[in-house]
Amino acid sequence: MELGIIGLPNVGKSTLFNSLTKAGAESANYPFCTIDPNVGIVPVPDERIKLLGDFYHSKKVTPATVEFVDIAGLVKGASKGEGLGNQFLANIREVDAIVHVVRCFEDENVVHVDGSIDPGRDIETIDLELIFADIEVLDRRISKTAKSARMDKAAAKELDMQKRLKAHLEDGKDAISFKTDDEDELVWIKEYNLLTDKPVIYAANVGEDDLADDGASNPCVQSVREYASVHNSEVFVICAEIEAEISELDEDEKQEFLEDLGLKESGLDKLIETSYRTLGLMSFLTAGEDETRAWTIPVNTKAPQAAGKIHTDFERGFIKAEVINYRELLDCGSYSSARDKGLVRMEGKDYIVKDGDVILFRFNV
Ligand code: GDP
Repeated sequence: MELGIIGLPNVGKSTLFNSLTKAGAESANYPFCTIDPNVGIVPVPDERIKLLGDFYHSKKVTPATVEFVDIAGLVKGASKGEGLGNQFLANIREVDAIVHVVRCFEDENVVHVDGSIDPGRDIETIDLELIFADIEVLDRRISKTAKSARMDKAAAKELDMQKRLKAHLEDGKDAISFKTDDEDELVWIKEYNLLTDKPVIYAANVGEDDLADDGASNPCVQSVREYASVHNSEVFVICAEIEAEISELDEDEKQEFLEDLGLKESGLDKLIETSYRTLGLMSFLTAGEDETRAWTIPVNTKAPQAAGKIHTDFERGFIKAEVINYRELLDCGSYSSARDKGLVRMEGKDYIVKDGDVILFRFNV
């Protein structure tokens, strides 16, 4: 899973990215400081693999991971080549979902590119650039499809859809809100890989004082929430500066620090959870003395495809899966006692894997 972090310059993207990855990319108080997209691989916080790892005395405990890409350079006019130009749009095209950081913090020492703090305007500035970029992609598609549309019925149908989609974008709407039940059309739209067809999670970057009530008393956060609800998107409230501080702490210090702030979990943990949910993902687990590990799969994945995440041979030679919920396994005290109690189930190729399943795959090689 790859998430792209976007937003206007100076809203806190790099601060957030750095605390996510501690990658150490420069975070400075002027626009365009992060020119190249930075990629960071971040573990998905998961208590279950810690517990299972202890249970098996595993030599290695491997969490699922999420990849974050810090995409800098998005400014007004970017789709027309302003700022860092079009290059970064290609980077956004690669990601599964977008984390859109919006500035909701006051700090007179941090320059705002448009001179004032106005989340509604900021979000629209970025969204319009993405829509413009999509219209360009669609225009190229339209001229290509138009050539074959006179001879080819399918092409004619696609052209009709492309024109409707273009009109939709020209209304200032994102591609993800374009409604169609037509199977062909759904496939075509996916193929175009449009920027505004990706799920967006808004990160309202607030000052430290707004954390305790989750931004409820900050009007900027309210306007982000209003915008997001119209666009069916999730919002989470974060203070990038605090996250940067937290990322310097070890696990015990982190818990203490969060408690002092009156928080249950760090913003980054919340972000990863929200991303998982937004993308319809979950994890299953494999456990043993050598390694305990979490694997990411889309919700509703069947057992053979889940096995294929581990190795393509597992999917090809799939026979069956031995499955037990991790909690039941821990409560039984050992795998054999869980088996004796009949809690280890044998599941076939149609089994839909559940979040927190501990699975042992049986396969032919
Ligand atoms: P980017 O251009 O979006 O990547 O923004 P940066 O992460 O480089 O942040 C720009 C400036 O804003 C830096 O000086 C940060 O220290 C500051 N900044 C980022 N997040 C916060 C925050 O939550 N509160 C405050 N007060 N300053 C922040």
